[in-house]
Amino acid sequence: MVETLTIKDQIRKLIELQKLDGEIYTFKRDLREKPQNLAKLKEEFESKKVNLKAHEDQYKSLQLTHKALEGDMKSFDDNIAKANSQLSVLKTNKEYTAKLTEIENIKADKSLVEEKIINSYDAMDAAKAAIEKEKVVVAEEEKKYVAEKKVIEDSIKVLEDKARVLEVQRAAIAPLVPKISLGRYERVLQHTDGLAIVPVNNGVCAGCYMNVPAQVANQIKMNKELVFCETCARIIYLEEDL
Ligand SMILES: [Zn+2]
Repeated sequence: MVETLTIKDQIRKLIELQKLDGEIYTFKRDLREKPQNLAKLKEEFESKKVNLKAHEDQYKSLQLTHKALEGDMKSFDDNIAKANSQLSVLKTNKEYTAKLTEIENIKADKSLVEEKIINSYDAMDAAKAAIEKEKVVVAEEEKKYVAEKKVIEDSIKVLEDKARVLEVQRAAIAPLVPKISLGRYERVLQHTDGLAIVPVNNGVCAGCYMNVPAQVANQIKMNKELVFCETCARIIYLEEDL
């Protein structure tokens, strides 16, 4: 039965297939873009964490400085204790006065470091507050990211379902077209962005918008074989002829 289909009937079937294939092509192209959209979204979200990371790094470095200052304090205390213990064994007033001066100098250095420690506590508190504030910002961004990600993931499912339905419809029509014609159509489809069969409108191919020579148009009218556009290689037909 299939082999007895006239060229006109074959073209009608191929037009039906083209409607489905055009949609399938669009869905598949959209589906190919989705992973890139997801990756871009993730990248954007990750970039929102930059400030948080900076505040956390700053806090870590403040902690290290603070620890070093506390170490300094301990050695000042040790030095003061050592100098105090030496006072009792000193023989002369001069030595005694010199030692007292030394102790005063250490105490002066110590009080400078004490001030730095107080400032360091303030700086750590500020950094901690900045971290907490930024965490709120990141949490908000994460909510948005998760929601947008879900929209894309859902749209992937919808596209996949639609493509599957169309593939089923396609599978019902394709076997009705003689194998040779179907093979030609599918080869063209692969090379023409999902548009393999087009009408000729006012002597112009609707696929590439180039003129179709009168001789080729006559060939179509003879309805003996599939006719291809000389420019874009798509199958061409005359609407008024069907
Ligand atoms: Zn063309």
